[in-house]
Amino acid sequence: MSARERIYLSPPHMEGKEIEFVNNAFETNWISPAGPHLTAFETELKEYIQIDHCVALSSGTAALHLALILLGVERDDEVICATFTFSASCNPIVYLGARPVFVDSEPDNWNMDPNLLEEAILDRIKKRGKAPKAVIVVHLYGMPAKMDEINTICTRYGIPVIEDAAEALGSSYKGRKTGTLGDLAVFSFNGNKIITTSGGGALVSRNEKWIEKARFLSTQARDNAPHYQHSEIGYNYRLSNVCAAIGRGQLMVIDKRVKQRRANFQYYREHLATEPSVSFQPEPEGFFSNRWLTTILIDPAKNHGITREDIRQALDKENIESRPLWKPMHLQPVFKNAPFYGDKVSERLFEKGLCLPSGSGLTVSQLERIVGILSP
Ligand SMILES: *Cc1c(COP(=O)(O)O)cnc(C)c1O
Repeated sequence: MSARERIYLSPPHMEGKEIEFVNNAFETNWISPAGPHLTAFETELKEYIQIDHCVALSSGTAALHLALILLGVERDDEVICATFTFSASCNPIVYLGARPVFVDSEPDNWNMDPNLLEEAILDRIKKRGKAPKAVIVVHLYGMPAKMDEINTICTRYGIPVIEDAAEALGSSYKGRKTGTLGDLAVFSFNGNKIITTSGGGALVSRNEKWIEKARFLSTQARDNAPHYQHSEIGYNYRLSNVCAAIGRGQLMVIDKRVKQRRANFQYYREHLATEPSVSFQPEPEGFFSNRWLTTILIDPAKNHGITREDIRQALDKENIESRPLWKPMHLQPVFKNAPFYGDKVSERLFEKGLCLPSGSGLTVSQLERIVGILSP
């Protein structure tokens, strides 16, 4: 047992206002369903990312599920998804009986490779006689994907784009916030994300009809009648007013959180600059990452054969949580039969990559403790 207090990867970070909003929800008995904090949270989120329409939901996964339903994804359809991501990005494809097709990353920013995306689309059209129903692009660890190239390709083949911005609230691409760059976008407010509602998500779009439909589906698809009448299958996916109250307090400090996360990254980069075996997720010109997690690659060839696992275990021994980068979906047992376009880019990122503690509440002495192990 270590005497030292545990440092977590990305713990929740409350500012103070959250509890006031939650108390207000209790005092007014707006616990659930819906309520004024929920409406206000949606309005404030829309204003922050500059988009017209938003529905707050119980999770990012629920938001992705509804996004696919809105785009008409059905049994035996195919949906393209980045392979280098968390499983929640593609699980909803399978909920609908549709099939994921995975596309590899590029070394530039670690996200979906536009050239491989086009190769995948053309090959699926050739093999199946029709284009995939949607493309799910992920802004991994907060880093925007190459949206101009991806949108151009998807427009060419008439395929709608869903941004999985679960990790990327507060990031931007060529001056525009992530979440406004595709046809639909998804955010997560899970406990480990840059801001949290304890558990929650949102679906946003410029298309009002889609968001209204999502709101309808998320509240059990009740027809407009005094009794309970249903013409469609619904879901119980709405965020509660209490959770939204937490989210309002968190949203007030999102820019501060982005600064704090980026400062962590800056600290690691400066203090690990002398380690030739360590490199960081690149942030190309015009890309702005919220640096939700600081992620590094460890090259054993440049440091006496010391691997990512060696480092992870050394940190763990000192009661410091770190985690390998996401294991690509095409390497997951559950998706072993899914088509994959690419080579070894994401596989190598997984082999060499480590997420470092990145909470917005990290203190300098905690950062010193971590860096002291990475660069002894
Ligand atoms: C967290 C996450 C999700 C899922 O969000 P939940 O709110 O946990 O359901 C989806 N995609 C990515 C990339 C994520 O990191």
